[in-house]
Amino acid sequence: MKVLVINCGSSSLKYQLIDMETEKAMAVGLCERIGIEGARIKHEVEGKDKVVIEEPMKDHNDAIRLVLETLVHEAHGAIKSMDEIDAVGHRVVHGGEKFASSVIIDEKVMDALNECIELAPLHNPANILGIKACEELLKDVPMVGVFDTAFHQTMPKENYLYALPYDLYEKYGVRKYGFHGTSHRYVADRVAHMMDKDLKDIKIVTCHLGNGASIAAVENGKSIDTSMGFTPLEGLMMGTRSGDLDPAIVTFIMEKENLSLSQVNNILNKESGVYGVSGVSSDFRDVEDAAKSGNERAVIALKGYANRVKKYIGAYMAEMNGADAIVFTAGLGENGIETREDICKGLEGLGIEMDFEKNKVRGKETLVSKDGSKVKIFVIPTNEELMIARDTVALVK
Ligand code: AMP
Repeated sequence: MKVLVINCGSSSLKYQLIDMETEKAMAVGLCERIGIEGARIKHEVEGKDKVVIEEPMKDHNDAIRLVLETLVHEAHGAIKSMDEIDAVGHRVVHGGEKFASSVIIDEKVMDALNECIELAPLHNPANILGIKACEELLKDVPMVGVFDTAFHQTMPKENYLYALPYDLYEKYGVRKYGFHGTSHRYVADRVAHMMDKDLKDIKIVTCHLGNGASIAAVENGKSIDTSMGFTPLEGLMMGTRSGDLDPAIVTFIMEKENLSLSQVNNILNKESGVYGVSGVSSDFRDVEDAAKSGNERAVIALKGYANRVKKYIGAYMAEMNGADAIVFTAGLGENGIETREDICKGLEGLGIEMDFEKNKVRGKETLVSKDGSKVKIFVIPTNEELMIARDTVALVK
């Protein structure tokens, strides 16, 4: 079976065509600047040169059409005909309380997705556009929706409710939802496999540290708590997002700086985090370089980042009464050797003992704890696309 995985952003579209016999990607690509001047598709097929084609794409329909044409292209295609695509799996950011697992997309699901727009106004509309475009161009091919929020729907109510008036939850669904669920689920699964244990018998703290970052407490295969909340702004310090802060700061700075709602939103989402503190960049590589050359704010940003991850690891171990494993994934989690070291240094009292030599690894599934460490530490490259494709196969078969 061949599954096309689609991940639509507002002006971008990532895709992978995965052969589910081997679970290997046959083609990987990205459409950028959809609806903007200078649109292009970057496309790579196993065993062929990477190509970049500049072509106007006025909307997501144009983008999907171009993806399909490129996939069957004589020179740089991966398949001979579109008929070879057996199913499409779509990443959907927000499923609200409506979806606790992946689903086959039908009219009812589309209605429910539209109802979730209010919860993710920046993400869900693009996801919906992608689904509609595929429905139009790949008639009769089954589609599956895989939600970032679904894995965290197992959180108990005491963990997902904020300490706010209860009617805000009832009226508007104000609660913790959590994100990156597909990634947390994938790496938890891999940890169980690498430990040769049943996921139902272990407790894991999963650390998805990318430009956006979140941590989850996974007990017996279920997410019982996670650091992102009503939106992806809560929790850790991130590339440009503030993460946790005193909510009173929001109204304080609005008053002091005479800010509108959208301006304060922009500060919290785009001008804060590692970028805001360091003043250097949202990319850890730049911030690390600056710290090494003596930039004090860069040093503080890195220390503050590691300390916040530490706090969540401690909190989630307390919630689960210990952990069997910690796993690092996503851009920084997979590649940030020094960040992982900074996080784990000083956690020996919790039974977390990193082997700093083994930790010198990037982007490779590896056990990086000492032999005797009570809590195992893993680095596991995430693969959300494969997880989406697996769910798709399981549902359409
Ligand atoms: P992601 O959102 O998962 O693509 O992660 C992107 C982030 O990973 C970048 O902003 C970097 O901060 C970080 N990253 C990627 N490669 C490295 C590396 N070699 N060392 C440190 N950080 C890295």
